[in-house]
Amino acid sequence: LYGKVRRNSLGINLNDPTSLERLMAELGRAMEKQRQALPLVSGEAGKGTVQVVRDPSDRRRVLGTVVEADQEAIAEALSEADAVAAGWEATSVLGRAECLEQAADLFEERQVELMALCIREGGKTVADSLAEVREAVDACRYYAAEARRLFAMPKMLPGPTGEHNELTLHGRGVFVCISPWNFPLAIFTGQVAAALVAGNTVIAKPAGQTPLIAALVVQWFHEAGIPPRVLHFLPGRGSRVGQALVADYRISGVAFTGSTRTAAVINQVLAERKGPIVPLIAETGGQNAMIVDSSALPEQVVVDVMTSAFNSAGQRCSALRVLFLQEEVAEPILEMLIGAMEELRLGEPGRLDTDIGPLIDGEARARLETHCQRMNREARLLCRLSLPEATQNGYYFAPRVYELENLAELTYEVFGPVLHVIRYSSKHLNKVIASINRTGYGLTLGIHSRVDETVRYIQNRVHAGNIYVNRNMIGAVVGVQPFGGERLSGTGPKAGGPHYLLRFATERSTSINM
Ligand code: GLU
Repeated sequence: LYGKVRRNSLGINLNDPTSLERLMAELGRAMEKQRQALPLVSGEAGKGTVQVVRDPSDRRRVLGTVVEADQEAIAEALSEADAVAAGWEATSVLGRAECLEQAADLFEERQVELMALCIREGGKTVADSLAEVREAVDACRYYAAEARRLFAMPKMLPGPTGEHNELTLHGRGVFVCISPWNFPLAIFTGQVAAALVAGNTVIAKPAGQTPLIAALVVQWFHEAGIPPRVLHFLPGRGSRVGQALVADYRISGVAFTGSTRTAAVINQVLAERKGPIVPLIAETGGQNAMIVDSSALPEQVVVDVMTSAFNSAGQRCSALRVLFLQEEVAEPILEMLIGAMEELRLGEPGRLDTDIGPLIDGEARARLETHCQRMNREARLLCRLSLPEATQNGYYFAPRVYELENLAELTYEVFGPVLHVIRYSSKHLNKVIASINRTGYGLTLGIHSRVDETVRYIQNRVHAGNIYVNRNMIGAVVGVQPFGGERLSGTGPKAGGPHYLLRFATERSTSINM
């Protein structure tokens, strides 16, 4: 009933020269392939407007084509997903869990294909791409195990003699899964896997920038035994495809990861449409801070700040945006930090020695440029790297650090490799906490302190879904650091945590007079 003991995926050992050599050779081949992302409704390819997909690290490189789902494909997917929802819900949860486990095995066997697409289409480094595959595999196995635990047996409840009471969990119906480009594999897979195993049919809409990898995942889910009528795929813009799906009366829930603004729009569309009241599971942005006091180990702080702020070119919703340094230690830490930044290598994401790849697209870059123009006027620039020649054809952005007076100056999320530093006096720790809470977000928080009371004090006062103490604050692991925030950062429940599947399900209490 409970399946095998679950372990998190180990991935490829990048320290072993033989596996590394093989990986790089296979990756090289996989990165050359041309791909396609077509709308897939009940396994039938749909037609629509064709667009080319380009490599963010070099816009001249075409990776393949995507076909945006048209109105007909959207309508067909909704009616098919709705028609088979009851049948899928009635299947055994054990069978559904096995499909996910089968998919996880396929992903692991073919991880190079997935990594190649993360690198080319997502602009992610080799290490980040490997982490994506591992997270996708973990999500499938974890949600399979969770479904067995939660769904396989009714929960027995007490009652008077002669009365049998039980609580059972059921799929809700049609779930719409809308995923982001920054985790084009892991988050796409996680949402879809959770919705399916809980007994829902799924219409998956990948991010506009990363449809190719999502198309491959859908194909492999089908190969792993998920019936094509149960999982449909509709690439396209959020404003057309996403909007039409969310507005439909037949859907029973939405899982969304992306911006706070889009989550608010989805909420509104859901509220205004005719039809049942349905849940929105939203995981959105953050204004993530790290508080470093004078008891912290400076060398460790620097390593963790570098990872948290600049890994994935800062394009993680968990990434560090605002570093609070206690004034007594600010100077030496900043000096080391700037030294460490100068060692960063920006470049081709498929090279092993690249630390930072490109941004996802021109819009992302334009937003950061506007922000930095403002910072150049209003803040103190502490460091700005220069871009190597070889990056000129991609959407690269030079990492930089600004010093600010206070957090009130930052009223929006800055999604890229830009770090803001604020010095604080230990007398004013409460002001620091209040200013973090005043942003309205509540996603990740870093603390570097070796004073337990300080750690506990901050932990109990800052609104944050994920708190990391004396370590970096990114890369939540499935089943280990359930991920997701509160307030402007999302609704919960946390992805990769023990309550996630519950929101994809409806509870039924049955009372039988024996
Ligand atoms: N789960 C990721 C992490 O812990 C962040 C997810 C996101 O950026 O949406 O770094």
